[in-house]
Amino acid sequence: MPNYDYDIGVIGGGAGGLTVTAGAAQLGAKTLLVEKENELGGDCLHFGCVPSKTLIKSAHVYHLMKNSRKFGLPSIDLPPVDFREISKRIRSVIATIQHHDSKERFCKLGAQVEFGQPTFADEHSIRLNGKTYSAKTWVIATGSSPVVPPIKGLDKTPHITNKEIFYLDRLPESMVILGGGPIGCEMSQAFNRLGTRVFLVDMAPRILGNEDPDLADLARDVLSSEGVKFYLNSTIEEVKDLGSEKEVNIKAKEGSTIRLKAETILVAVGRGPNTNGLGLEDIGVEYDHQGIKVDHRLRTNHKHIYAAGDINGGYQFTHAAGYEGGIVVSNAIFHLPRKVDYTFLPWCTYIDPALGSIGMNESTAAKAGIDCNVWTEEFKDNDRSLAEGESIGMIKMILNEKEKPIGVQILGPHAGDLLAEWVAVLNGKVKLSTLAAAVHPYPTIGEINKKVAGIFFSPKIFSEKVQKGLKFFFQLKGRACTEDTCL
Ligand SMILES: Cc1cc2nc3c(=O)[nH]c(=O)nc-3n(C[C@H](O)[C@H](O)[C@H](O)COP(=O)(O)OP(=O)(O)OC[C@H]3O[C@@H](n4cnc5c(N)ncnc54)[C@H](O)[C@@H]3O)c2cc1C
Repeated sequence: MPNYDYDIGVIGGGAGGLTVTAGAAQLGAKTLLVEKENELGGDCLHFGCVPSKTLIKSAHVYHLMKNSRKFGLPSIDLPPVDFREISKRIRSVIATIQHHDSKERFCKLGAQVEFGQPTFADEHSIRLNGKTYSAKTWVIATGSSPVVPPIKGLDKTPHITNKEIFYLDRLPESMVILGGGPIGCEMSQAFNRLGTRVFLVDMAPRILGNEDPDLADLARDVLSSEGVKFYLNSTIEEVKDLGSEKEVNIKAKEGSTIRLKAETILVAVGRGPNTNGLGLEDIGVEYDHQGIKVDHRLRTNHKHIYAAGDINGGYQFTHAAGYEGGIVVSNAIFHLPRKVDYTFLPWCTYIDPALGSIGMNESTAAKAGIDCNVWTEEFKDNDRSLAEGESIGMIKMILNEKEKPIGVQILGPHAGDLLAEWVAVLNGKVKLSTLAAAVHPYPTIGEINKKVAGIFFSPKIFSEKVQKGLKFFFQLKGRACTEDTCL
């Protein structure tokens, strides 16, 4: 048997790669981690989840300050935002988390960390900084990058992506956002709240295309009401650099042409896999524009080379990358043949109100031919939501023909956190009756989970049949008040 330098080599120090590295090293595997940047943490820490959620919080606080009168507080004349201060806060949050994702920490766990850009020399070894490193198993976890579409003039016009947006040295006066997915929507609301005039363009008829239309449309209405201008069903014909301003020419579906002018263009139309420079062609690892092809155990066509996280073109979330990292550890280190199962993978778009989802929604259930039942409860009927001034939105619970929950969608305050209970219910196959009967603290937004489960049982419990039975057995006397006697 060949004697490799390492048991496992991991390429890419983001959510996926770090999970594999930490797991493998702690299990006693001789582990090498290679990262091309100078620091670990990947997109999530430096250009994704962490900076975006930090920015969103600053925008939320500024929004609350502007709307102080809604909370019975005096109105205030607010000075404009100094974006450098927001960037400073973003950098400081990242720096704090960076300790957790440091070379030293991984070294303590037992892994060797090297920085540089590796290329596969053969199926078992890479070349890095003039040296060759071999490993029995390799994991490619190099993530994804923003796709810049081939729109006429865009390559000659300065624009930004998620790589630059959190580190601007001033707040743009105006911004055209290309793309109405989660990143485009989150940034549209955050920058609009901070004081930027925001135009969002998408060729699709609605934003957040993976969500049910009713919730996506309600979310768009909220963003619109705050001032974001949407140009949906619109194709971008040309982009021009006019100097201090940029022009985006769009054509609406019905044929009209609109010229949008703004200081900045944010491109957020999708992500492509980071495969460049790895030499995958030379060793015959199969991939396309969406990512490296993997089987259910995340193995590439070379069974000892795995691909986890954004790079395989599946679900592009930090928690998905972490989950996939765990699957790789099971397969590669424990040699337990574990397959991925995304049935109850949750996700959330952190607009306000947030839009979270787990399992099937109405649209995906219909596509799968499931004759589902939908139960809803609105946040305006939740006492805590009213107290918080956050009463827009609803929860939708999807039941299959056997009245089993198969999915939940939430548009509302703290939707991502509210999903946590459903993560346990759905994965743990907890009965709806258990959730409906479980005591939840009052007043909490989380009571909405119990309430929607309870609504399902109400018509059964408070039915005429039950009333008749109780009357028969216990001689209940029936209504004390009718509408006639009350009025
Ligand atoms: C603006 C934005 C907001 C987001 N918000 C959320 C959110 O709220 N929640 C959520 O779950 N997800 C969010 N995401 C998605 C999340 O960031 C990604 O899904 C996650 O980072 C994927 O992890 P990964 O390990 O696959 O890739 P990454 O975290 O990108 O890590 C890949 C690593 O590989 C390195 N690398 C690349 N090429 C090479 C190479 N050739 N050699 C060596 N190293 C290489 C990179 O430098 C990087 O460190 C967001 C993304 C963006 C852009």
